[in-house]
Amino acid sequence: MTITHNYADSLSSLGQVITPTPLKEMQLAFFNASLAREIGLNKHIDSSETLLPWLLSPVTPLTKKAFAQKYGGHQFGQWNPDLGDGRGLLLCEVANSQGEITDLHLKGAGPTPYSRHADGRAVLRSTLREYIGSEALHYLGIPSSRSLAMFTSGETVYREQPEMGAMMIRTAPSHLRFGHFEYFYHSRQTDRLNALFDFAFTYHYPQFKHADNPHKAMLKAIVLRTARMIALWQTHGFVHGVMNTDNMSIHGITFDYGPYAFIDNYKADAVFNHSDYSGRYAFKQQPGIALWNLNALAHAFSPFVSIEEIKETLSLFETTFINQYQKAMTERMGLPATQEGVGLMQGFIAMIEDEQQDYTLSFRRLALSLSQQTQSSLPIRDFFVNREKFDSWYTAYQGAVVNRDTLAFNPSFIPRTHILQQAIEHAEKGDLALAQQVLKASSTPYNAKWDHDEIALPPKNAHQVSLSCSS
Ligand code: AMP
Ligand code: MG
Repeated sequence: MTITHNYADSLSSLGQVITPTPLKEMQLAFFNASLAREIGLNKHIDSSETLLPWLLSPVTPLTKKAFAQKYGGHQFGQWNPDLGDGRGLLLCEVANSQGEITDLHLKGAGPTPYSRHADGRAVLRSTLREYIGSEALHYLGIPSSRSLAMFTSGETVYREQPEMGAMMIRTAPSHLRFGHFEYFYHSRQTDRLNALFDFAFTYHYPQFKHADNPHKAMLKAIVLRTARMIALWQTHGFVHGVMNTDNMSIHGITFDYGPYAFIDNYKADAVFNHSDYSGRYAFKQQPGIALWNLNALAHAFSPFVSIEEIKETLSLFETTFINQYQKAMTERMGLPATQEGVGLMQGFIAMIEDEQQDYTLSFRRLALSLSQQTQSSLPIRDFFVNREKFDSWYTAYQGAVVNRDTLAFNPSFIPRTHILQQAIEHAEKGDLALAQQVLKASSTPYNAKWDHDEIALPPKNAHQVSLSCSS
């Protein structure tokens, strides 16, 4: 039996078993068959037709021990002990033939003890955005939760206006957030904190169970993985939008998609979350906030790791982040990861920022300008206003380039906010074709065919859209 309920069974006092509340007229809209195979679920659910009946009955392996997890979190810098999964349930874990364990989690599953008077629902708009966003990051090579299935419904959910309710099943190695450990530490529930750590060592960090200091080894792994994830966000112009510690995974994967966006016209201080008045989660703040969050997490490790060792472990973040970022960015540009290469990379970004050029497209054009087959297309210099500056930069760049074959590092497609918005509007009218197309493009983000496809283009009147946090 590879479907398990390890969390619900061994940590039953850290949450509550709750039966999912189906939506009216639920329908399967998307099913990710290749992911189902990857995680070993196909042995149990061999066709997408099995999934919905399994969710609708309260006694199946997916629903009989569905579990609402308790956690806390630092939200916009303030500690909130009253959080927990207010609209999501951990359905089960599933193991594949390599023994890798994956959580199946239903978002929008109805009220839980942690719903705090909210409805426990998710709307089609945010569900579709998460479904596509997490697949897009995965295929860009950025660690992320994944999307297994999405369901539409005939149920109205009320937000600022009536909207269509939806649900999705997402997968992740686990749903353990920084906020889980913070909660049981700050509420002084030592036995539960210990049980949580035991669980994490048993199922997720077994390689550290017998280390000199297992907790220190685990903290270090989380620091390094988080640094790498953030480096890749910065490389691709991804803004998470709500980096509260309850939205941070101990696996260093992108998690809990809300008001995320890929930057169109480059602005280092771009903010997309309309509740983020101070710009705490602006694009350029993400590395610093990640370190702030790791520091918050590290408090929960303090019973096991000395302050000196915690400081030493956290200090690995900055160098790891910088190295990973410079490596990924110079790779994008075919430059060596030397001082000269990094200087040229920064020079390019400064030009993009000065002229508010489109971030992703500028890199793609640069890659196209290097590539033999595509040199006949419109030269990249034509897109810059300050040609003199561009020319002198480009001459230096040509002298330093070591790899001219960089198209595989520079996506031709990212799911931009405006195209997601269009896909949502169609989906709300019952037409999922555009969403399907955006999903397909998101899973082949380096394919040359998107270079000439409208769905990849930046918005015509590039203006910054702000997005709501929890919907
Ligand atoms: P988020 O901003 O989506 O990370 O949500 C913050 C917290 O609020 C989490 O604990 C969620 O489970 C909870 N939450 C968000 N939306 C809802 C909702 N519609 N009903 C119940 N809980 C919610
Ligand atoms: Mg969240």
